[in-house]
Amino acid sequence: MKVTALAGGVGGAKLVDGLAQCLSPSDLNVIINTADDFKHFGLHISPDIDTVCYTLAGISNIQTGWGREDESWVVRHSIRDLGGPDWFKLGDKDIATHLERTRRLNLGEKLDSITKYFCNKWGIKINVIPMSNDLVMTTVQTQDNGEIPFQEYFVKYHCQPKVKGFIFRGIEKADPAPGVIDSILKADVIIICPSNPWVSIDPILTLKDFRKTLKTKCVIAISPIINGKALRGPAAKMFKEMGIIPSALAVADHYRDVISGFVVHKTDLNEIAQIEQWSIMTTALDIIMSNKAHRKRLAQEVLIFCDQLI
Ligand code: GDP
Ligand code: CA
Repeated sequence: MKVTALAGGVGGAKLVDGLAQCLSPSDLNVIINTADDFKHFGLHISPDIDTVCYTLAGISNIQTGWGREDESWVVRHSIRDLGGPDWFKLGDKDIATHLERTRRLNLGEKLDSITKYFCNKWGIKINVIPMSNDLVMTTVQTQDNGEIPFQEYFVKYHCQPKVKGFIFRGIEKADPAPGVIDSILKADVIIICPSNPWVSIDPILTLKDFRKTLKTKCVIAISPIINGKALRGPAAKMFKEMGIIPSALAVADHYRDVISGFVVHKTDLNEIAQIEQWSIMTTALDIIMSNKAHRKRLAQEVLIFCDQLI
């Protein structure tokens, strides 16, 4: 089965790692959100690409969910001593990624090519594709604090400001990266990972030609919301502030125009009937991925579900 997965950072990375344990590398493409990308100290930082790649390479920090394992913080502490901004925590090894990425971008290399090169260096065999080589930057529209660039909202303000909308700046002009549309067309099934629907998956879906291409395919999604809560991050809070009760049902509704299959957590069984009224085949599984073996087990079960749909 040829699979193309859509992913943001933490939740996406876990399922992608599971899928990579089940499928042969030539059967798995992953399209990663780049609307979280931003410049800091002049460096181009791609948080979701890095989370997915560090996870696949087995070098991610499992505790924090971001950054690399066995980090040192010499640069960050030295910046702080100089009175520079240290709200975005960059470890020394992580900084090397951003330095080398930025150096290559400055020489004219594209983000997709740099990502491929890094994957090769890190022993990642599956095809990791940034959604676009063009800069797209999410701005959060807040109820009381105006517009805030996504990383400031997420990291500096700890997702405290109440949201009322999201703008993906640059999305109209951004072309899908080479391989994005092609990987959708060639896939038997598209899997929307349990990532944040508002800020990780919506930017990908909003890309030029993307929804149109998806409409011709079998698409399934796995809920990032369990028992009305996100396992981490602001997804549930965002639903609430956008006037929607957070639930797996709300996630299915969010993706209603593109999905024909949906996976909820086993404790959210009671939401299945209503989702199925929208002609979305729905199953309940244990969708909490606490370790590498759980990721593989969920991926196997999701692939069996996909098999029934295609
Ligand atoms: P970010 O870009 O780092 O914020 O990560 P994503 O957008 O990819 O993922 C964030 C979402 O992942 C949150 O809404 C979490 O609820 C969800 N998530 C994290 N771990 C798991 C898991 O083990 N299972 C499921 N179903 N969702 C998860
Ligand atoms: Ca992210």
